[in-house]
Amino acid sequence: MGVNTLHFSPDLAAALQNGVVAVLPVGAMEQHGAHLPLTTDTVLATGVALRIAERIGGWSLPAIAYGDAWSTEGWAGTISVTPDTLRATLLDIGRGLHRLGVRGLVTVNGHFGNREPIALAARALIELGLPVLHLDYPGLEAAAAEFCSSKPAGPGFYHADEVETSMMLALAPELVRMDRAAAEYPDFPPTFGSEPMQLHTFNSSGVFGDPRAATAETGEKIIGRIVDDSVRLIELWQKAQP
Ligand SMILES: [Zn+2]
Repeated sequence: MGVNTLHFSPDLAAALQNGVVAVLPVGAMEQHGAHLPLTTDTVLATGVALRIAERIGGWSLPAIAYGDAWSTEGWAGTISVTPDTLRATLLDIGRGLHRLGVRGLVTVNGHFGNREPIALAARALIELGLPVLHLDYPGLEAAAAEFCSSKPAGPGFYHADEVETSMMLALAPELVRMDRAAAEYPDFPPTFGSEPMQLHTFNSSGVFGDPRAATAETGEKIIGRIVDDSVRLIELWQKAQP
């Protein structure tokens, strides 16, 4: 983990007095084709969360490294937890944060399948008195359209493509095997999104889109936009707190 002063209890105790906000990355253990590692979503959420925490002077928490990845269980390497498990884990962590007296919790989600469990946990936590802002890479869709040269496999659908590969090249290039990068643009079945569907049933490589054009520079631009948009939302959210 990078530079953050809140890895030690006495430093945290002082920050809690000053109303610190906790920043929690939520990732997944999930296949990402032959060129990105199984831990991609966790690596990306952690990197983005750390930059957000540095900007807002937040407390950067270690990631939840497993998510609801049922849809990619057809490939080797995916290990999924149920939505209930993820929701319950977030509730437990949130209760602990509330007990410590953090001013609020920001979740930084790196995996689509986690959205619903996170939103449900957030709802339960605000009822306990802990304000929660759950972020799903705000600004990503506009940044992808502006900075990427390949088109996404589906609207708002980024998986092992130019977007995720560029972000990995910016944050953890040692984990990327560009020599193995290959494109796949599957035909999404008409009922995709309207029925539970595992992705291996219509995609062979696990790649959705074209990762070959990915660069660290593109990744930096995308991450910069996500961090800027996240910080803006956090500031608005904090202003609205009593
Ligand atoms: Zn991913």
